Amino acid sequence: MNILMVASEMTPFVKTGGLADVAGSLSREMEKRGHNIKAVLPYYRTIKDGNFQVKPLGQRLKIKMPDKVVEGRIMKGRIGANIEVWFIKNDHYYDREGLYGTAKGDYADNAERFIFFCRATLESLKETSFEPDIIHCHDWQTGLIPVYLNTLFKDDPRFAGIRTVFTIHNVAYQGIFPPSEMPLTGLGWDLFTPEGIEFYGKINLMKGGIVYSDILTTVSKNYARQIQTGEYGCGLEGLLKARQKDLYGILNGVDYDEWDPEKDRFIIKNYSRRTPGGKKDCKSSLLKEFRLEPAPEAPLFGLVSRLAEQKGIDLIADTIDEISSLGNLVILGKGDESYENMVAHLIEKHPQKVGVRIGFDEALAHRIVAGSDLFLVPSRYEPCGLNVMHSLKYGTIPIVRATGGPDDIISEFNPDTGKGNGFKFYDYSKEEFCSKLKIAATLYREKKLWRKLVQNALSCDFGWKEPAREYEKLYRKAQGRRRGTGAGFPPLQE
Ligand code: ADP
Repeated sequence: MNILMVASEMTPFVKTGGLADVAGSLSREMEKRGHNIKAVLPYYRTIKDGNFQVKPLGQRLKIKMPDKVVEGRIMKGRIGANIEVWFIKNDHYYDREGLYGTAKGDYADNAERFIFFCRATLESLKETSFEPDIIHCHDWQTGLIPVYLNTLFKDDPRFAGIRTVFTIHNVAYQGIFPPSEMPLTGLGWDLFTPEGIEFYGKINLMKGGIVYSDILTTVSKNYARQIQTGEYGCGLEGLLKARQKDLYGILNGVDYDEWDPEKDRFIIKNYSRRTPGGKKDCKSSLLKEFRLEPAPEAPLFGLVSRLAEQKGIDLIADTIDEISSLGNLVILGKGDESYENMVAHLIEKHPQKVGVRIGFDEALAHRIVAGSDLFLVPSRYEPCGLNVMHSLKYGTIPIVRATGGPDDIISEFNPDTGKGNGFKFYDYSKEEFCSKLKIAATLYREKKLWRKLVQNALSCDFGWKEPAREYEKLYRKAQGRRRGTGAGFPPLQE
């Protein structure tokens, strides 16, 4: 199959969270399965300044906006030998410090930036001979692509064979903008209705993707159920329920070429399930790196996260005294200013026990995952939780809130049977979190049981093979659909 993967971030080029890992690894895995993959990304400053071989492709793009014509270029790069990546270049939109904004908030023109991205992606197909069978769109930044295929580009025979799969990585980020931005989309006001992309008087780009795509997926089975409820659906639950026959939960895989303690290039000593000894060196080196007291007998807790409300950072702040009494804690994170400040303050109270780095640091993320004994994921909600799967591979035991993906991934360790791969708590409360921390810290001192638990974690396999097979099945299902009929809500008029 010819597959066009469209996302706003993708490894190895640019990453703020799990979306980038998934877009990159899934592309590589699909290519390994024999498909012809092309990927599309905005040409951000970090890519421009990075060490990537990129050159212009085709003519300049010209996209008509209401009061101007916006020009862009396609730049061509590669992942490995066989995957061509097209970068949509427009320096005014993408040559900026952040992808979506700064710690102070989102860029004011995000609607325009990603409307342009969607339109330019489809226009770029005209510049090449590539004819996708499937366009796989990821998150709200790509939500208008399925809409355009069923409206503005509907009568273009070049696009007639294309079917769409839309993956929701996080339903809380929908791309909601005031109605004054509607003309930028180039779509008629007839789409500004509850059956179209209108959402409580505003426009909602993710809603466009959900209404108009042939197949919908999200990143775990549990999250697929959760987003159909008022508690987790963020207002889209009714629509997602209406499309539940086309909505699939596929747990993301882990790229074990990148995340494997046996060959990890970022850690001080490699180790594996058969030779787990190197983990001790990773721990002492991490403690040293954060200038914390050497304490091999006390558990080291780790946390690597986007710093956003979702991630349960306030629960860490509320329990910092208890965590410090049980062991040491190292944190790496970047995100909202208020949470960056909250985390930075934790050191002041416990300078010998807590280490914090604010920033995005791939290598340090690996060192924390490898060097910690326990990995904290106390999220309010968590669609997939790639971090949880990374930790397991490194024998670092997750303590997770039982929600979304983590609830699917973790089974509670039972000391009597020796079964289970981590710890989970249910209520989003200090009491429950603390009680789980204490149980984990106590078990840590029971060497034999702990070794068993670590072995269980190291034996887990969350590679991409199975998820890629599931995506392939869905691509075929989408291909079998009559054009537009997948968009069951509303039934499109042919
Ligand atoms: P989300 O997609 O919500 O951010 P996931 O746990 O699914 O959460 O994926 C997060 C990914 O981003 C992981 O690969 C994690 O290691 C990485 N990550 C998050 N924050 C940072 C950071 N500050 N520095 C380096 N890597 C980070």
